[in-house]
Amino acid sequence: MKVLIINAGSSSLKYQLIDMTNETALAKGLCERIGIDGRLVHETDKGKHTADMAMPDHGAAMAIVLDTLLDTQHGVIKSKDEINAVGHRVVHGGEAFAESVLITDEVEAAIEAVNELAPLHNPPNLTGIRACKQHMPGVPQVAVFDTAFHQTMPPKAFLYAISYDLYKKHKIRRYGFHGTSHKYVSENAAKLLNRSASDLKIVTCHLGNGVSLCAVDGGRSVDTSMGMTPLEGLAMGTRCGDIDPAVVQYIMQKECISAQAANDLLNKKSGVLGISGVSSDFRDLSTAAKDGNERATAAMEVFAYRVAGYIGRYAACMNGLDAIVFTAGIGENDIGIRERVCSYLTWFGVEIDPALNAKRGEALDVSMPSARVRVLVIPTNEELVIARDTKMILEGK
Ligand code: AMP
Repeated sequence: MKVLIINAGSSSLKYQLIDMTNETALAKGLCERIGIDGRLVHETDKGKHTADMAMPDHGAAMAIVLDTLLDTQHGVIKSKDEINAVGHRVVHGGEAFAESVLITDEVEAAIEAVNELAPLHNPPNLTGIRACKQHMPGVPQVAVFDTAFHQTMPPKAFLYAISYDLYKKHKIRRYGFHGTSHKYVSENAAKLLNRSASDLKIVTCHLGNGVSLCAVDGGRSVDTSMGMTPLEGLAMGTRCGDIDPAVVQYIMQKECISAQAANDLLNKKSGVLGISGVSSDFRDLSTAAKDGNERATAAMEVFAYRVAGYIGRYAACMNGLDAIVFTAGIGENDIGIRERVCSYLTWFGVEIDPALNAKRGEALDVSMPSARVRVLVIPTNEELVIARDTKMILEGK
């Protein structure tokens, strides 16, 4: 079985064709600048192919993806019929979806109904679904939600301390994101530790451009750091994370800006970029900090301090902690950040082995043999989770 994974953003469309017989990616790529001009980046084991091509909308981008997958030079399949199903990443499933589903007209309408909760993400996700339906009529399409894994959170974790009427009327509550990643790495942590997921209390740390932590107790998400939107929680590349809500109105007054401009400021110009003024990328921050840039150092300190604080909070919430998992761009690659975070946690029984922590790119327990809490580095694979769910739904399991 071959499954095409689609992750459609407002002006981009990422794709991956996965052969489920051995769970390998046959091709992966990205259409970017959709609606502007258009650029394709396509990768297979034959190499990388890039091309500037007109992409007036997602439908046109989808046609290019299919043509490229079928291309005699860059392609990996001979007929469109080889694609057995399409798995779509959908960011927000609201309270309607606690698991992945086969997309029907009703499901599409339910996704559209929560557009307001993720105005930047759900509309392009739907556009991707519609583009695939247009170009691959009859091919089953599955929606895999970023929020679904966290639907097991109890009310004490998902309710905001605001009027309950607001939750009931407008669905204002915490949902959480990066669910596919937290699910994948927590399951792999159990495998790596050779233990049953049902016996483990794990904090998974997805540290990428977006950052979220998840408390996984017995294989279920019981709390997570992102909220109604992906702005809540940790300090991120460009997002502020937790902040006194009164600050928003104060900024609007002092800077004479609109609510929309304040929202943009907190989403796009804050986080480690905002503190450092250098970059949202941790490689740039490390270089700047080594060159003596104090704001870059402060940004990395705020970042690590908050991650460590949330780990402590989740250890309390779960009343125990067996393992911490680091994943995503920073979590998998930034040895210094892992070291910094773990340095706050020795009291909990965290002890990492510097030689093991210096390794990258493989699933690994980087703890000392004597450590009470294991620290694991596990590369995430959100596309594979989407592909597995899609296959499972197709097979009716
Ligand atoms: P992601 O969103 O998971 O793709 O993560 C992207 C982020 O990971 C980048 O913005 C960088 O901050 C970080 N990153 C990627 N590679 C490295 C690396 N080798 N060292 C430190 N940080 C990295």
